[in-house]
Amino acid sequence: MRAVRYWSTRNSRLLEIVYSAFEPLLRGLGPLARAVGAGRLERPMAAVERAVKGFLFDCRMCGQCALSVNGMACPTNCPKRLRNGPCGGVRADGHCEAKPEMRCVFLEGWNGAQRMARGPSPHANPPLDHRLEGTSSWLRVVTGEAKPQVPAPMPAAPALPVVSRLQELLASGAFTVTAEIAPPDSSDPEEVYRRLEVFNGCVDALNVTDASGANCHMSSLAMSVLLLQAGCEPIMQMTCRDRNRIAIQGDILGAAALGVRNLLCLSGDAVSNGDHPGARHVGDLDSISLLGTVRRMRDDGRFLSGRPIEAPPRLFLGAADNPFAPPFDGRLARLAKKTRAGAQFIQTQYCFDLEAMRRYMERVRAEGLDSRCQILVGVGPIGSAKTARWLRAHVPGVSIPDSVVARLEKASDPRAEGRRICIELIRGLRQIPGIAGVHLMAPKQERAVAEIVAESGALGDRAPLFRPSSQAPRALEASMRGRS
Ligand code: SF4
Repeated sequence: MRAVRYWSTRNSRLLEIVYSAFEPLLRGLGPLARAVGAGRLERPMAAVERAVKGFLFDCRMCGQCALSVNGMACPTNCPKRLRNGPCGGVRADGHCEAKPEMRCVFLEGWNGAQRMARGPSPHANPPLDHRLEGTSSWLRVVTGEAKPQVPAPMPAAPALPVVSRLQELLASGAFTVTAEIAPPDSSDPEEVYRRLEVFNGCVDALNVTDASGANCHMSSLAMSVLLLQAGCEPIMQMTCRDRNRIAIQGDILGAAALGVRNLLCLSGDAVSNGDHPGARHVGDLDSISLLGTVRRMRDDGRFLSGRPIEAPPRLFLGAADNPFAPPFDGRLARLAKKTRAGAQFIQTQYCFDLEAMRRYMERVRAEGLDSRCQILVGVGPIGSAKTARWLRAHVPGVSIPDSVVARLEKASDPRAEGRRICIELIRGLRQIPGIAGVHLMAPKQERAVAEIVAESGALGDRAPLFRPSSQAPRALEASMRGRS
């Protein structure tokens, strides 16, 4: 019952007091549980817990209760199965990207956490252990298996080796330009090379989307390797929507073995937005637990299970950020969680509001987050006022001020005006301390990227990483053709 769930986050402080009184009672039952056997208490305790928490929180009994660290909002109600939200798709009115009829679970949780004595947790929730679903979290408090989360300060940023050309460029302090390239609905590598041509000579690296919008296309891994063979620096996007942790870790090893060095960790759009709305949304990990998983594989040389990896992957890790989606005051905390989890670079959602970005970066610098990760701000040209309105209405997390829409409306050539707005934004962003570069997203306007980069002076007087001289022989393609 959603009304009761919302009541619970509004009254999170009261519930925190009640639970603080209840928890010692649970812990006091430890000797009894040992005497009669915890297994015997499982069913009756799970039944009571299900009734109480189901009524108050719409709890679905994941068996690893995160209510107290999530402002008394139950993460199991997130349609994308995130444990660490909110995602970047929260609508302007605070409603959910995937289920617009309800408010975002994590936005409710953020508001609930503000009212609690313990406040918002700086720590990420670990991935669920699905074996515990349906079991009693209270019983684990009784037996002492559930340990309370103890807040710890942000650890010092580790000194990590340089593993990619993009990382090296960002470390040099050069204002960096990345762009997005969409994989084709084709198995022909020539189509990839054709799409690639327009970016040659104007970008440093290209993000290869991973079934963006939950629509099916050529895989991000395969296309990243094709880009490498063409002399381009790929940023492989990996979402948690379509694979479980076993498949994800296998793909990461495979990508690293094939030479991919930049990985952008994403939760992914909801399947309901894409061309296979009947597909299962896997969501075994989310962007933050994916970051933690890859960092563990890379730095500790271990799978999530603890099993050692013979040759750990060498990867430069990135994540996404949306400073323009609610809860605005919670976005910085989420950025901090991502850097704590291992993000070394960040690419943001579209920015159309320079002043809002300036204010956000002031807070980022005040927290010292700009020294822990390199921030590339998302920009792009809009073709018309109609497109701007459509983006605002249909693409979750995109915020476009009325002034931008009005400017496009009045323009005699809206496409040219859209490019001018983008160029002005890049020039403005270059002046904001802490911004390391821009990330251009120009679907159906890829040919405009070269003009925008040149006119904005984004590259200064340096050559981009991807330029004609970096063209590499298409060795694999040639060998594949030889075999067929
Ligand atoms: S907006 Fe995103 S994080 Fe929030 S409940 Fe919906 S899918 Fe989950």
